[in-house]
Amino acid sequence: MKKYKNNEENLELLEVHCNKCGRNMRVENGILKEGCFHGDFAFGYFSERDGVRHRFELCEKCYNEVISGFVIPVEETQEQELL
Ligand SMILES: [Zn+2]
Repeated sequence: MKKYKNNEENLELLEVHCNKCGRNMRVENGILKEGCFHGDFAFGYFSERDGVRHRFELCEKCYNEVISGFVIPVEETQEQELL
């Protein structure tokens, strides 16, 4: 869950909470200073949640717990440029 402060010019990131464990992640000057998985998915017509959008954040510890339960491991590649 992300909280923003609405400045006159733009949105400033204030807080990021992991949706699984609830931990408040480190944010400094509007920048998230640790790894965070951002989930954002709009369920489509053929799903049971037609038209519903889900958004959530996971800290790295919780992300690792989630993917450790996968039968098929995540696909992993090395990014050349990090944003
Ligand atoms: Zn967590």
